[in-house]
Amino acid sequence: MDKTAYKELKEKLLTGKKNGYDKSVDLEAMERYCTGYKAFLDAGKTERLCAAEAVRLAEEAGYRPYTRGMALEAGSKVWLCNRGKAVMLAHIGTKSLAEGIQLAAAHIDSPRLDLKPNPLYEDSELAYFKTHYYGGIRKYQWLTLPLALHGVVAMKDGSQVTVRVGEDEGDPRLVITDLLPHLGAAQNKKPLAEAVPGETLNILLGSRPIGGEDESGRVKLAIMNLLYEKYGIVEDDLNSAELEAVPALKACDIGLDRSLIGAYGHDDRVCAYAALKALLDLTETPEKTAVCILADKEEIGSDGVTGMQSAAFDTFIEDLCAAEDVPLRACFEKSFCLSADVTAAYDPNFPDVFEKRNEAQVNYGIGLCKYTGARGKSGASDADAETVAYVRRVLDEAGVLWQISELGKVDAGGGGTVAMYMANRNITTLDAGVPVLSMHAPFEVVSKMDCYQTYKAMGAIFRA
Ligand code: MN
Ligand code: MN
Repeated sequence: MDKTAYKELKEKLLTGKKNGYDKSVDLEAMERYCTGYKAFLDAGKTERLCAAEAVRLAEEAGYRPYTRGMALEAGSKVWLCNRGKAVMLAHIGTKSLAEGIQLAAAHIDSPRLDLKPNPLYEDSELAYFKTHYYGGIRKYQWLTLPLALHGVVAMKDGSQVTVRVGEDEGDPRLVITDLLPHLGAAQNKKPLAEAVPGETLNILLGSRPIGGEDESGRVKLAIMNLLYEKYGIVEDDLNSAELEAVPALKACDIGLDRSLIGAYGHDDRVCAYAALKALLDLTETPEKTAVCILADKEEIGSDGVTGMQSAAFDTFIEDLCAAEDVPLRACFEKSFCLSADVTAAYDPNFPDVFEKRNEAQVNYGIGLCKYTGARGKSGASDADAETVAYVRRVLDEAGVLWQISELGKVDAGGGGTVAMYMANRNITTLDAGVPVLSMHAPFEVVSKMDCYQTYKAMGAIFRA
C-alpha cells in the first residue's frame, strides 16, 4: 500500500479527534464567552448567589417570572426560582409540548464548608466556627487557604439577613490553620484521608478579647458582638442560618498563554453557565421548547426540595404542559436531556488513575459520557447507543468539538450526576460536560476551548 492510500484509509477508518486549536474556532468569541463566564463565577460562589445571578441575566435577556396559569405562546420566555437555590427557565417552542422538550440540566452547588448550626466557640482565647463539609472534598486542600463566608440568617420574624465577608477589597479573610512541618512527624505517617479529620476544619475568627481579665469566653463574646453590630443577630439566630465558607479567590486566567481558567466552583457552574447562556442567546424561537434547569444539592446526592430529585421540576413542566392540555408523561417520553456536568480531564501528573483511550483531554471539547457511576457502572443511567448516536449527529452538524470520556479507570473510583434522576423520569438522557483538572479542589482548572465548545453544544441541543 502506498503512502497516500494508507493515509486515506487511516483518515477514513480511524478516529480523527483533534485539539480545538487545530480546528477553525472563533477565538475572539471564545474569549468573550469566557470573560462572561468568569464574571458569572465571581458573582455566584454559592447556590443562592448563583441562582440570583442566573435570574438577573435571564431578566436582562427578556425572560419573565413564571406564575402558574400565565398565558404562554411560542417565543414566550420564563424563569422560575425554587426557594432561592435552583432555577428553571423555558423558551416555549413552536411545536406542542407533546413533542417533548430539549433540556439541559446542570447544578450550581459546589463542594464547600458549611457552618454547623451551633458554630461559634472559643478555645485558648481564639474564636472559631465549627464546620461540616458539604460534598466530596479532600480535606487537606482547605487548610491555609483564604476563605470568604456567604449565606443567610433566617430570623424568626420571617426576615432574612445576608452575610458576605471576605469577598471584597479591604474585607478581612478567614482561614483554617495547619500543622507546622516541624511538628508534623506523626501526622505525616497517616494516610492522606485521615491526616485532617473533619472535626479539625475549624475556621479562625479572631483573637481580641473584650471585658475584664477575670471574665471567660471574652474572644467569643467579642466576635458575637461584631456579628450583632454588623448583622443584628444573636447566637441563637445562627441555628437557622446557612453560612458557607468558600475560597476567597476570584476566577482568573491560568497559564502563560492564558488558555485555561482557574476558579472555585467550575463543578458545575461551568456547565450551568454554558446551558444558561446558550438558552438566553437563542435568537430564534426553537421548534421544541428549550428548558434549562440549574439544580441544587447534586454534590450530596440530589435529594431535597431544591435537588434534581425534587418534584419542583415535574411541577414546573407539568404547569407548562397544562397550558396546552398535554399530560406530563407524554411530554417526558419524547424529551431529551443533556445532563450537563463536568468530567475528569486526563492529568499527566496522575496517569495511574486514567485509561487514556477513554479519557477526556483538555482542549478536545465537551466530553460525552455514556455512563458514569462506580463499581461496574452503579449509579449510572448508562445511556443507550441510539442516544449517543443522536448527540454525535447533533453536535457534528453544528460543528461542535466533542470527545468521548469516562471518569477514570475501571474501579479507580467513580462518581455520579443528575443523569439518572432525569432518565428515571422517562426522559432520554446523556451525560456531557467540561473536562476539569483538580475537580472538587478549592481551585479547579478548565480550558477556555472546552468551556466554549460546551456552550456551543448546549445551543445545538436547544435548536435540535
Ligand atoms: Mn458536578
Ligand atoms: Mn461534583
